[in-house]
Amino acid sequence: MAKRRVGILGATGMVGQRFIELLQEHPQFEITALAASDRSQGKSFEEACTWRLSGEMPQAVRSLKVQAPEPPLDCELVFSSLPGDIARECEASFANAGHAVISNSSAFRMDPDVPLLIPEINSSHLDLLAVQRANSGRQHGFIVTNPNCSTIMLALALAPLHLKFGVTSVVATTMQALSGAGFPGVPSLAISDNVLPFIDGEEEKIEKETLKILGRVNDGQIVDAPMNVSAQCHRVNVSDGHMAAVRVKLNKLASVEEIVEALATYKALPQEMKLPSAPEFPIIVRDENDRPQPRLDRDAGNGMSVTVGRIKEDNVLDYRFVALSHNTIRGAAGAAILNAELLIASGLL
Ligand code: NAP
Repeated sequence: MAKRRVGILGATGMVGQRFIELLQEHPQFEITALAASDRSQGKSFEEACTWRLSGEMPQAVRSLKVQAPEPPLDCELVFSSLPGDIARECEASFANAGHAVISNSSAFRMDPDVPLLIPEINSSHLDLLAVQRANSGRQHGFIVTNPNCSTIMLALALAPLHLKFGVTSVVATTMQALSGAGFPGVPSLAISDNVLPFIDGEEEKIEKETLKILGRVNDGQIVDAPMNVSAQCHRVNVSDGHMAAVRVKLNKLASVEEIVEALATYKALPQEMKLPSAPEFPIIVRDENDRPQPRLDRDAGNGMSVTVGRIKEDNVLDYRFVALSHNTIRGAAGAAILNAELLIASGLL
């Protein structure tokens, strides 16, 4: 099958570079357009972008000219990693021009007719695309989003527990990597020898998005999952890999062994469909006392698995555990690519 021609909006950024890295040998996509700010426009990608991932900048994108993030671009679908404040207008213009927009940014995540998709959890939310089409009057273009990087990790760890035991309360304390703030991100003098107990908008995103992701579609509308979520977010001096200490209260009593089994055996649609970016195990459970750790576990499942450890009974809620995942892979570019793979497999792209 011919590869789909894709454009990347925000191609020079932390997430944009991750898209390019992950797409370079992808069986279904080829990169045909790149866009970034006016600082980069008109230059070749090689001139515009300082490559910040390990290894070399892929040959195939070096000579592509960086363009403005506005149609027309030579591509069928766009992956967007634009800053939230400009994403809404840019992404809407691509959808209106007939493109599928697979977005990382927060701009449309909470719109009632936009799927906030994690293929393992809520593929049924793609039913919202029919509502989006009717609301927007668009024939072809549409917008699908992936959640915030910490929310994806938390929602994946909660999904099997919610399915089997019903989660009623969640308290999550995150320790988030520097790459989550883009480049150059947090000043080195602010984060060296330090932890910052504030990431603008992050706690609200985790608290709201989790309910939408774990919710269900009823009559073309999302009914939020009936649970309380409380999040506190911290920036820590780690390059990649977000971590969260999580406590949960369950509707139905379960043993530690049942919790471990529910997490470790969790498999869903992307695994059944063998989507190219789907990890064999969405959740990897570790039983060592000192795991997960960002440096050791962020690349599990090629960066697409969430690692969970320290599963214990809790004195305040029912259970606690620590979750970890790669914020620019499962938390961003890899998540968006998996969404696009599901759209192809579902005949929507
Ligand atoms: P970043 O490293 O700061 O990159 C931002 C990108 O957007 C660059 O390509 C930049 O181009 C472009 N850009 C900035 N202002 C622009 C403008 N006015 N017009 C057009 N392009 C513009 O940020 P990032 O970490 O990649 O994050 C990108 C998006 O993904 C954000 O919405 C973020 O919230 C979301 N996200 C990030 C992560 C993560 O872990 N980093 C995870 C999930 C979601 P120039 O190089 O030309 O300035």
